[in-house]
Amino acid sequence: MNDAVRRVHFNAVVFDTHCDTLKCLSPYFTSFRDSMWSDRSSTGLGGRSDVGHVDIPRLKEGGVNCQVFAISSLRERNPPYALRTALHMVDIFYSECLKNEDSMTPAATHQDILKALDQGKTAALLSIEGADVIEGDLGVLRVFYRLGIRMVGLVHSLRNQLADGVTDLRTGGGLSEFGVEVVEELNRLGVLIDVSHLSDAGFWDLTEVTTKPIMASHSNSRAICGHARNLTDDQIRALADRGGVIGINFSPNFIHPTKADVARVVDHIDHIVELVGADYVGLGSDFDGIRGTPIGLEDASKMPNITLELVHRGYSEGDIRKILGENHLRVFKDVVG
Ligand SMILES: [Zn+2]
Repeated sequence: MNDAVRRVHFNAVVFDTHCDTLKCLSPYFTSFRDSMWSDRSSTGLGGRSDVGHVDIPRLKEGGVNCQVFAISSLRERNPPYALRTALHMVDIFYSECLKNEDSMTPAATHQDILKALDQGKTAALLSIEGADVIEGDLGVLRVFYRLGIRMVGLVHSLRNQLADGVTDLRTGGGLSEFGVEVVEELNRLGVLIDVSHLSDAGFWDLTEVTTKPIMASHSNSRAICGHARNLTDDQIRALADRGGVIGINFSPNFIHPTKADVARVVDHIDHIVELVGADYVGLGSDFDGIRGTPIGLEDASKMPNITLELVHRGYSEGDIRKILGENHLRVFKDVVG
C-alpha cells in the first residue's frame, strides 16, 4: 500500500458501527451451545489475538478510531437472562476501557468522540442489538441510556415485544404498539435507532413514527446481494431522505453469494453512492459476529484495504473521509448530540 493511501486512511475518522466482540468476552456467549464466539476473556481487548477479528492492537493497526460495541441477549426465542446477560456485557465493556485507558475510552457524546480522537485513543461506543434486553420496560431502557447506550436495534432477527425481525416475514408484521412507544422514547432521549435485523414492514412503520435520522448499523444493498438482511433501493432512499447512514457489513453471505472480497464489499458502497450520493454510507463490519470474512478483510487490521479500493475507483479524498467515518459522525452528532 503506498504512502498516499496510508496518509488518507490514517488521517481519517474510521468509524465502525457494529462488532460483536463483547460476546467473545462474555461467558454467557462463549459457553453457549454451538457457540461461534472464540473465548478471548483471557486476552481481553488489550492483547493481540490470532483468533476473531477485533482487539485494540488490531483496531490501531487498521486505523479504526471509533468502534461501536454491541450488547445483546442470546439470539433465540425468549432468551434466558436477557437483562442480566446485557448488563454483564456493559460491565465487561467498562472494565476493558479501564484496563486499557491509555488506548481506548468510552464515548457517549459527539464531544467525547472528538476528545478521544484528539488524544489518539479509540472512542468506544455502546449499542444494543435486540431490545429484548429491556424486558418490556421503558424504565430499563432509560437505565441503559444512563449506562451509555447510544444506539438501539429494535430486534435481533427474531420477533420480540417491539417488532418483527427479518426471520419473521411470513405475517408481514412491523412495529407493535410497545415498539412505537420505545421509538418515541429513543427519539426523546437522543438515541440512534438501528434498522439492521428489522423486518421490511417494521422499517416502513419506523419511517412513519421516528422524527430522527435512522441508522442501519450493519446492512448492505439487496440489489447487489439478495439477502433479507440487506436494504432495498427504496429503503436506502428513505433512509437517505431522513439523513441516516448505512454501515456496510462484511459478512460474506451479505456481500456476494460466491465471491466475497474487498472489491465486492466496495460494490455495495458504489451502489449506494450512485443511488443517493456519498453522504449516506459508512462501515459496519459486524466483526466477531460473522462466520468467515471477505478476502482482504480478515480482521480489523485490514481496514485500510477499503481505502485502497476506494482510491483505485477514483473516489475523492473528501468522499473517502465521509465513507470511512464522517457520515457516521454526522448522524451521531445530529441524533445524540
Ligand atoms: Zn447483527
